[in-house]
Amino acid sequence: MTAQIIDGKAFAATVREKVAGHVTRLKEENGITPGLAVVLVGEDPASQVYVRSKGKQTVEVGMNSFEHKLDADTSEADLLALVDQLNNDPTVHGILVQLPLPKHLNEDLVINSISPEKDVDGFHISNVGLLGTGQKSMVPCTPLGSLMMLRDHHGSLSGLDAVVIGRSNIVGKPMAQLLLGDSCTVTIAHSRTKDLADVVRRADIVVAAVGRPEMVPGDWIKPGATVIDVGINRIEREGKNVLVGDVDFASAKDVAGAITPVPGGVGPMTIACLLANTVTACCRANGLSEPEGLTA
Ligand code: NDP
Repeated sequence: MTAQIIDGKAFAATVREKVAGHVTRLKEENGITPGLAVVLVGEDPASQVYVRSKGKQTVEVGMNSFEHKLDADTSEADLLALVDQLNNDPTVHGILVQLPLPKHLNEDLVINSISPEKDVDGFHISNVGLLGTGQKSMVPCTPLGSLMMLRDHHGSLSGLDAVVIGRSNIVGKPMAQLLLGDSCTVTIAHSRTKDLADVVRRADIVVAAVGRPEMVPGDWIKPGATVIDVGINRIEREGKNVLVGDVDFASAKDVAGAITPVPGGVGPMTIACLLANTVTACCRANGLSEPEGLTA
């Protein structure tokens, strides 16, 4: 058996198309252009690449992109003042502070200073609480993108056994909440889980968000299961620098029913969902009905 490959790149393109359609309508019918502000502190090379990519895609779907680049030694007070300014700017509907921040800045404090309605990363404590209690919130982009692909593949997820490997605040925990919201029976595994292989073998849905290259081999996967590989790991193979996931794709694809590749799976969905969250935030801010299919 060979798994169906879930094409995240193609799926992300359809999400961006939907977003662009909503942006056009917002402009034509309401005279509003959604705006996303991205704040980058310092010169972390990976963060610079992400921020550039976010800005480019924001403009491509017709939204306004506001980039704020601050020096690595920016004080907490100055960063908080900028966030406050963006919170009060009616042309900004989404605010993203690129993580990680330099060590002298308190990430929790900064994230929680963003207005929850504009917190398009979904990391603000209010959004975490709203998601946990099944209320309307801003949902973190990577888990939202993973959920969209699962819903598209399965239709209903109700009653399915799901195992999420990883319990981080940005991926594992919100992913588990979303799956629970769709009535899966959810297990969250982590570094202290006993018999991880047995736990994973029970799952109809496996979401791997660990950060360990090819840690999940094919013989841990229940035949026919759906595998969402969130991991992005850079390794050396045959003298080349390659990207691999947390799942051993080569062996897993022969057992799984469907699997996301790395690259080209979850990765492209993350920025697409950031754009989706921005358009959702814009609609909510203006008391307009939310775009369908772009929220959890
Ligand atoms: P974290 O490092 O914050 O969390 C990793 C989790 O994996 C922890 O909960 C940890 O457990 C668990 N873990 C570590 N080792 C094991 C093990 N041997 N067995 C079982 N569980 C283990 O990572 P993130 O959640 O931020 O990211 C996870 C991966 O997803 C990374 O590869 C990252 O690059 C990628 N990522 C991809 C994104 C995308 O857009 N596709 C976006 C965000 C992340 P414990 O809590 O016990 O330490």
